[in-house]
Amino acid sequence: MDSLSNQQVQKVILELDQALSSHEQWYKNLQRVLISHTAPEPSDLKNDAHLHCDFGQWYTSPHVQFLQENPLFISLGKAHEKMHRRARHLIQRISDGLPILVRDWDPFDDSIVKMRVKIQALREEFAAVVQNRDPLTEAKTRARLLTELCEQQALVQRGKQLCVIAMVDLDHFKRINDEYGHAAGDIVLVSTVKQLKSHLRPYDRIYRYGGEEFIICMPSTSVEQSREVIERMRVAIAAQHFDFGKAHVTASFGVSVLRASRTVEESIHCADKAMYRAKAAGRNRVELDPE
Ligand code: GH3
Ligand code: MG
Ligand code: MG
Repeated sequence: MDSLSNQQVQKVILELDQALSSHEQWYKNLQRVLISHTAPEPSDLKNDAHLHCDFGQWYTSPHVQFLQENPLFISLGKAHEKMHRRARHLIQRISDGLPILVRDWDPFDDSIVKMRVKIQALREEFAAVVQNRDPLTEAKTRARLLTELCEQQALVQRGKQLCVIAMVDLDHFKRINDEYGHAAGDIVLVSTVKQLKSHLRPYDRIYRYGGEEFIICMPSTSVEQSREVIERMRVAIAAQHFDFGKAHVTASFGVSVLRASRTVEESIHCADKAMYRAKAAGRNRVELDPE
């Protein structure tokens, strides 16, 4: 989900809210049919009723891949279809002048609850993505960094994988703010994260560590393998052009790995030390943690 923009995520959340609301509206109408014996929607009596209601129309329309392939979304579709099957049976009984049996009502009621729970859980999953991001750059927050690096560290400790981390610090960034203003500085930060993200693989992550400092986490990678990608990131940052002037933006990189023999904080510190060596050696460089 990391590759979705906040705007795309917010759109999904809005759609889920609307889908839940149309489902509740459908349920309200059905209650009138069952209790007050108003005329049912003809489509609710069809075998494919789940494709005709507003919720079903939304469900079967195209969605972003991360929603479409989400296991909760897939099971929501199945729950919805089942719910319509049960509703059809209830409507049929009322139309035939028969009472609704508890053994028919309870499973229907369950499927109504199940749908609400699934929609809510999906909503929370997407909302968490935005909450865990820095609002300016949409990089993950520092709060997520330690949690997620500790998860990676556990895999390293079990011998399951290697994991590279890189500290990225923009060079002389204060000058950009001083020369072009804070808003221009913000544009540089946003653009730089976009550049970095465009070089990441699906499981790589980027966190905002501080003002103009970022940490990149590259699981299942050795330092040798990551070097080439990080070098490409360095070149891409330096090649950026900005509308507000001739600002030349570069970054210094310090590369380290998570190790079973040290804490995550120690590995971050080693990446930081390597980054400071890159600064001392003239900036716009990549330096490796020698340990
Ligand atoms: P160095 O090459 O040694 O890293 O120099 P530097 O100027 O990049 O480092 P320094 O730590 O002196 O300055 C970092 C600047 O980043 C200062 C701060 O105002 C700016 N900054 C931090 N967060 C933001 C932000 O969100 N937006 C903008 N525009 N500037 C920010
Ligand atoms: Mg800094
Ligand atoms: Mg800096």
